[in-house]
Amino acid sequence: MTRKKENLVDVAVMAAIPRPLTYRVPERLEVRAGQRVFVPLGKRRAQGIVLEPATQMAAGVEARDIAELIDPQPLFSPELLTLGLWIAEYYVAPVGEVFRTMLPLLKETRRTERLEITGQGRARMEELRKAEETGAAAESGPNPELTLLQELARRALALYAARRRFGADLVERAQREGFAQAHQVEEKQARRTVLAVRLAGPLPERLPRLSPVARRILDALATSAGPIGSDAAGKAKTQDHRPLLKSARGSIQHLRRLEEAGLVAIEDRSPYGAPAANAAAEQASALGAITTGLVAEPGAADHAAAPFKLTVPQSKAFDDLATRLDARKFSTVLLHGVTGSGKTEIYLQLIGRALAQGRSAAMLVPEIALTPAVRALFAGRFGSQVAVLHSGLARGERHQAWWRAARGEARVVLGTRSAVFAPLVNLGLVIVDEEHDSSYKQDETPRYNGRDVAVVRARLAGALCLLGSATPSLESYWNAERGKYALAKLEERIAGRPLATVEIIDMRAEFRQTFSKIPVSHRLREEIESQLARRAQTIILLNRRGYSLFLLCRSCGESPGCVNCSISLTYHRKEHRCVCHYCGYSTPVPKQCPACASEFIHYVGEGTEKIEDKFRELFPSARVERLDRDVARRPGHFERLLGAFRRGEIDILIGTQLVAKGHDFPGVTLVGVVSADHGLRVADFRAAERTFQLLTQVAGRSGRGQAPGRVLVQTFYPEHYSIRLAAEQNYERFFAKEMRFRRMMRYPPVFALAHVVAQHTKIERAVEVAKQIDQYFKNALPDPEADADPAGDTGQKDAIDNSGVARETGLSTVRGLLRSTAYPSSGSRFRVLGPGPAPLARLHGRHRIQFLIKAASRSELNHLLTGLADYCQAEHIAPASFVIDMDPVSVR
Ligand code: ADP
Ligand code: ZN
Ligand code: ZN
Repeated sequence: MTRKKENLVDVAVMAAIPRPLTYRVPERLEVRAGQRVFVPLGKRRAQGIVLEPATQMAAGVEARDIAELIDPQPLFSPELLTLGLWIAEYYVAPVGEVFRTMLPLLKETRRTERLEITGQGRARMEELRKAEETGAAAESGPNPELTLLQELARRALALYAARRRFGADLVERAQREGFAQAHQVEEKQARRTVLAVRLAGPLPERLPRLSPVARRILDALATSAGPIGSDAAGKAKTQDHRPLLKSARGSIQHLRRLEEAGLVAIEDRSPYGAPAANAAAEQASALGAITTGLVAEPGAADHAAAPFKLTVPQSKAFDDLATRLDARKFSTVLLHGVTGSGKTEIYLQLIGRALAQGRSAAMLVPEIALTPAVRALFAGRFGSQVAVLHSGLARGERHQAWWRAARGEARVVLGTRSAVFAPLVNLGLVIVDEEHDSSYKQDETPRYNGRDVAVVRARLAGALCLLGSATPSLESYWNAERGKYALAKLEERIAGRPLATVEIIDMRAEFRQTFSKIPVSHRLREEIESQLARRAQTIILLNRRGYSLFLLCRSCGESPGCVNCSISLTYHRKEHRCVCHYCGYSTPVPKQCPACASEFIHYVGEGTEKIEDKFRELFPSARVERLDRDVARRPGHFERLLGAFRRGEIDILIGTQLVAKGHDFPGVTLVGVVSADHGLRVADFRAAERTFQLLTQVAGRSGRGQAPGRVLVQTFYPEHYSIRLAAEQNYERFFAKEMRFRRMMRYPPVFALAHVVAQHTKIERAVEVAKQIDQYFKNALPDPEADADPAGDTGQKDAIDNSGVARETGLSTVRGLLRSTAYPSSGSRFRVLGPGPAPLARLHGRHRIQFLIKAASRSELNHLLTGLADYCQAEHIAPASFVIDMDPVSVR
């Protein structure tokens, strides 16, 4: 029997499945790579993205048919498809989940459970009906069970609706007795593709060669135009594509071809679909966020529109960057510029240059709510060409912004992490500001780092990638040292302003002198007094929110913890509750100890809320405000607070690390760090790096205007190198010292690191999963103890590389790699630490057991982890029961 050659494609199905699945394309459909489709998956329907033609199915497996096309056109360019595949491969994430993350569009489907009648149910219905007829059951009115079954016989009901109408008991009984069955279904929402089609103009005398279908479509459109001589004559009427295609027996592809030939015009009118181009209202909403920034920050708006003349150091850096941009070739530059050196101006002028070349640009920032000033600058320079993309937007707004970029109306995208997926065409420039910031790492699947993805995206687009920071990540600086990235430096602040002077205050000595319990030293108090006398502004940093750190029973030592996480609850006074900062669980404040009923409950430590109170008490005449995640919950509050501070309406701004991030407040001449030690006590190999970055960044907020700035750092560890070197603002020395530690301990960036966690609400199950994972590592790495020298030459060559893969990322190359399952046999190049309890042994109610895997080679580590993902699937370990975190930013 000869079989017709099947038309097969690979589809990234949006479900927790590691690899793409192969489907058959039914003849009625014409699909293209990057298109969204519905496919059958088990008993349900799922969304997927078409990747590329598949060569063949595994022997004996029958491919299932693609059910339906969702969009008339591909949503992913080949560039973004490749990027998605790279992420799936590199971060060992389910490929469909990656594409789901990349697409901030409104959900077209929702999952519902539908209740259907069974054969048995129909028999039962007959039985009840007969009984009713014979009058046996007629006394008490209609039998609800019969009504339910009759209703179900007419049509399936949503389970929740059936429960509401007929009561949960009755519905459950019907299910239990086998009269009704519930099914999970993926439902397409009311939204359907609606295309309005019309003739683009009068048909030309000589038509190009047309297929019969195309001819029928044109005929139908032409006859619907008004009769000759009437007003409507020649004026093409629009038609819905559905009836039109039905009568012409054609597909959307036929329409698209006619559109390409310039014969018809198509407008997407799908509800929630591609929104209409250039609608004024939409422009306003897309720019709403930006203009709010303008109103809130007149200071920022003043210098928004006109570019500065670059200073000599700025020009030097800029000229090199411009040359690279003009070359239209991929390269990555790390811009290491001290705080206040004018990096933003360089970004803006480079973006302007890319636009002038007809290309587009994206800029990532860590937290958009915190940078209304940057938004205002972008709006001032680039007007309506800007789209803002971040998770804080309403879903509809994100959807709009995405389409504005896809259609080329917005050629500049400003956004957080996920803006790296913006569908910009002809991308020339990708900027990552504050590239060291840990918010670029997503802490759920796919666990990608937006900075590293930005480098890969730029490479795929042949664009320039610019990473900027005053405190670069060790990864990026190392890449610059090794010549992987070019390095540009700005060593001075604008206009020759000096960096702030930093003074360290030893809180041990302070305590010995004063025995004061107040966490504000004499020096700091004096300095603030003199700030107030001078009407100068102050920023106070304390990297903990809440009132007290935790409660402690003085009788038995018990400290109320979270029921879901192995962590103490933090006392929040305003709400008068104890709150878990990891999962949000909260309880009322206990009057007595839950363990021993003692009433001697002690409040230990201080958070921003308490410091705010203390400061109001110590400085009654000062205008004090607080900025942290708790106050951020009120919408628009960030903007208002930052605006008021910039206008000088606040004297002292107290906050967590949020006050340290990139702000430019010229009136601030004093920064006080109440406590910098908290971070150093955390068991995390990046603790010193984070402390150094935080202190250097917050110091950078002082003295950015005319007057010079000072910084006071209170600490119990004045000799710690991260504190000392931050005080000197000496990045190079910190880098050298920290690298020695990382090399010795085999941590990134010299070695590749992955964090693998087995987790489950039941501890037995978590242990079981951990054992299986352990077994996998034992099998895959025959001899983990035999430890040659992984730091030797061979290890160095392909060790960590945060720009991503070293090989060519053609679509099929990546796909080839996705398929490969052979692990290298090498026992000496890995170190597996674990299994052991994770630092957070419980989180969100799950027990957690961890492995740390250190490897000399990043690609070998990737193979090992890919094998682990396959193994977990083969062993039916639920995706929620294990976490693979490649390049973790924190190990907890
Ligand atoms: P960074 O991002 O490096 O910390 P900014 O970009 O915020 O620094 O610049 C610091 C300040 O210097 C800002 O107020 C900015 O407006 C100003 N500035 C930048 N470039 C120039 C320039 N060429 N001439 C004058 N002022 C400038
Ligand atoms: Zn107690
Ligand atoms: Zn918790």
